[in-house]
Amino acid sequence: MKDAQATALRERAERVLAGGVNSPVRAFRAVPGTPPAIVRGEGAYLYDADGNRFVDCILAYGPHILGHNPPEVLAAVRAQLERGIAFGTTTLPEVELAERIVDAVPSIELVRFVNSGTEATMSAVRLARAATGRDGIVKFDGAYHGHADALLAGAGSGVATLGIPGSPGVPAAAVAGTTVLPYNDAGAIADLLSRRGEQIAAVLVEPVAGNMGCVPPLPGYLERLRSLTREHGCLLIFDEVMTGFRVAYGGAQSLYGVIPDLTCLGKIIGAGLPVGAYGGSRTLMEKVAPSGPVYQAGTLSGNPLAMAAGGAALDCLRDGTKYERLEQLGHRLADGFAEAGAAAGIECAINRVGSMVTPFVGVDRVVDFASAQRASRAGFAHLHQTWLEAGVLWPPSQYETGFLSTVHTDQDVDRISEMFAGGVVAAEQVPAL
Ligand code: PMP
Repeated sequence: MKDAQATALRERAERVLAGGVNSPVRAFRAVPGTPPAIVRGEGAYLYDADGNRFVDCILAYGPHILGHNPPEVLAAVRAQLERGIAFGTTTLPEVELAERIVDAVPSIELVRFVNSGTEATMSAVRLARAATGRDGIVKFDGAYHGHADALLAGAGSGVATLGIPGSPGVPAAAVAGTTVLPYNDAGAIADLLSRRGEQIAAVLVEPVAGNMGCVPPLPGYLERLRSLTREHGCLLIFDEVMTGFRVAYGGAQSLYGVIPDLTCLGKIIGAGLPVGAYGGSRTLMEKVAPSGPVYQAGTLSGNPLAMAAGGAALDCLRDGTKYERLEQLGHRLADGFAEAGAAAGIECAINRVGSMVTPFVGVDRVVDFASAQRASRAGFAHLHQTWLEAGVLWPPSQYETGFLSTVHTDQDVDRISEMFAGGVVAAEQVPAL
């Protein structure tokens, strides 16, 4: 793979950007090779300054479910651009996007837009604390809910990739109210709530974990979270920043039929522009300023460009055939991985929900962060390198999920599987990197 331009960009970036990046996982610290200097995206492909083309399974970490540059989204952004970029008043595109979200997401009667997933979860936690008069929150080991202080405990995604236990700079008091429990362990949460339920404002969960790699909920787990939180008067918050409009149009809550009290969104609802949102019942959301006392605001919240982009993307997705196609593609990819692993005689857990897919090499089952950590990270790094050199851009960490879009073809997916077959090796056989 040619990478002279990529290397030059990396060196230049390292001179002026902290760590050479604006989000840690982009630095490729857990895999060999240089992050490509991407100059253009089109459909399922990315093109770099060195002349390489990649089948893209990062998709900007989730937003591009329709692939890069869907014409409907471009047209909506262009039209809004002509009218203006930001006004500091409520505009039609934000009302239209809110209407679509309220229609689609079962738990949401009122929504508030913010600028990132981090802001969405941070604000939802504040609202939950205010609504219950309690301070405690529960999150799950290996889940990532953005980088707000209270949620930077036992975090997945880039925090796990870099092996950071928490983060310096987070005051002990900020995480004192945060309890971290194993995901998919109904006994652990039942036990905690039976002892300290009256102190817990909310249980915050990625209904399909995506930041320890993809880890689906075990059958009955989300239902149990719902009944336990109800029993103890705690709110259930689904962090659907990744899963919202990804695993189904109405998110994981419509896929599994479990309705939380509050829902956080991001990524797809902005189609690649900066966005986040949180929402819930009218009663809860009316506690947010100005109708209620819980303060939360944003200069660029509901930014018309992001709202127009998101609205156009949701219009394309509303046609349910898109999710059938994503399911077919995801199924084909997971089957391809499983067959390749079996052919090579290497144990692999292939986790998938719809178009979110993660292969874990060297383990037979991944149901939580502890089992995800038993997968061979060297094996993953070798796989990643094989993919990169063959023109497949997979997230550069075991603890990120791979994504497919509606415009990936069967051939694209088969190529990813073929290269998986070429790159999958037992942990003890990984060549020195
Ligand atoms: N929650 C989840 C489930 C996420 O996956 C992410 C980001 N990957 C966030 C929250 C934080 O979102 P953002 O990066 O937009 O702040």
